[in-house]
Amino acid sequence: MIPVPNLAVGMPAISMNGSAPRCEHLDGLAPVTPLSDHCRDCPGRADRPAAALVVCLTCGWVTCSDNSPGRHASAHYEETDHPLAAGLEPGSRWRWCYVHQRLV
Ligand SMILES: [Zn+2]
Ligand SMILES: [Zn+2]
Ligand SMILES: [Zn+2]
Repeated sequence: MIPVPNLAVGMPAISMNGSAPRCEHLDGLAPVTPLSDHCRDCPGRADRPAAALVVCLTCGWVTCSDNSPGRHASAHYEETDHPLAAGLEPGSRWRWCYVHQRLV
């Protein structure tokens, strides 16, 4: 099992005073199970280290990160409009929102 980080959900989206907008894409997010341990869009690269992988927080699809030559995380967003990706590596804490173009 990969531990699921605490998600700060349930806060109302009130941000009218000039601070950075809250990412509403986190609202209602349910924990997903990564569908694989390698990027399915990179044939023959199943040995890629987990640190280079991200998981879609909408559907659990696993891709290589945008630091990789394939950039399949961006490709997944462009195909599906799934806005959020997180590091697959156990203990990874970052989440990226493609709509807001920042860490959330
Ligand atoms: Zn967002
Ligand atoms: Zn890939
Ligand atoms: Zn997805």
